[in-house]
Amino acid sequence: MTQVHLREGLEELPSYRQGKPAPARDIPTYKLSSNENPYPPLPSVVRRVSEAASTMHLYPDMSGRALVTRLAERYDVDADCIVLGSGSVEIASQLMRATAGAGDEVLFAWRSFEAYPTLAIAAGATPVMVPLTDSLTHDFDEMLAHITPRTRVVLICNPNNPTGTVVDADAMERFIAATPDNVLVVIDEAYQEFNRAEKSPVGIEVFRRHDNVMVAHTFSKAYGLAGMRIGYAVAPPAVADALRKVAIPFGVTSLAQEAALASLDAIDELAERVDKLVSERDRIQDALKAQGWAICDSQANFVWLPTAAYTDDVARVLDDFGIVGRVFSGEGIRISIGLPEANDVVIAACAAAYPATTPHPLSRTTAQG
Ligand SMILES: *Cc1c(COP(=O)(O)O)cnc(C)c1O
Repeated sequence: MTQVHLREGLEELPSYRQGKPAPARDIPTYKLSSNENPYPPLPSVVRRVSEAASTMHLYPDMSGRALVTRLAERYDVDADCIVLGSGSVEIASQLMRATAGAGDEVLFAWRSFEAYPTLAIAAGATPVMVPLTDSLTHDFDEMLAHITPRTRVVLICNPNNPTGTVVDADAMERFIAATPDNVLVVIDEAYQEFNRAEKSPVGIEVFRRHDNVMVAHTFSKAYGLAGMRIGYAVAPPAVADALRKVAIPFGVTSLAQEAALASLDAIDELAERVDKLVSERDRIQDALKAQGWAICDSQANFVWLPTAAYTDDVARVLDDFGIVGRVFSGEGIRISIGLPEANDVVIAACAAAYPATTPHPLSRTTAQG
């Protein structure tokens, strides 16, 4: 056993669980556990990344100037407001390290993105988790009640991972108005391109209205660049500056920057794929509702089965069909939208699993201070 002295409290830190890979089987299997884009990268993107590979002996442009300029134009914001990160998970890590330390609180709904508690604890802060409502949406009244003088950051995941639910624009606006101006409100929009809900807020517009709001976006999901690791924040300049200070130098590679630029060039082609995934999502949800499942409407590239106590039973049935979802024992199962063939199998598997469940939801975990 090593005697090395590790940081106090680290033993409480849960390790991030990657979505399970599809096992080798005698039937086709579908890995639908990580919300990846099922389409392979566009040839135009692969070409640009291959070209950039010839410069891999050089450090990347740390400021990512070409991409930052491009994003600033796209959103009509000052370039000072844009910060790149190696995935928006790194953005979330930066913002917690930049704002919260020992004794400080990071507030978010639960269940939400699994990385939030880990990143908060790694920053030395205390995660404060407020249960979702019965309809699996953010409970803004309860969240407001949990803001204390120690609260530094509030994370709002919209659409929420893993439930796919969205917040109401007016409700969020009231929440932000009631939140102290010195608390940073982060709108994590990793799935915003899949969101078709009319009353859901548009993060960038909220950012324009408030000095304490930032938005996190990623190229991993809709743009299909999960393996390249690139995301960005749009934040008030002083916050953006702080994020850059705590960032790991040269964390975003030239290849990732080039892939993002090439993807923005191909945005119409990528949008068609997103539209297909959205229509597949709606096809699955309609089929599941017709089977009797009491599911909430997901606006992301996944669906959420509120299987509660039946979760492990349902997971076994899915497994028999070769479907690998993200299983949260005792709560529910998140299944990413795949290509139509995979989605057909999801629908068949859910039909087979349904009688094992009751139509009444819902999964809840308790708040934690
Ligand atoms: C996937 C995801 C991200 C982005 O992950 P990166 O690959 O690091 O960009 C961020 N937030 C949520 C809620 C996600 O589900």
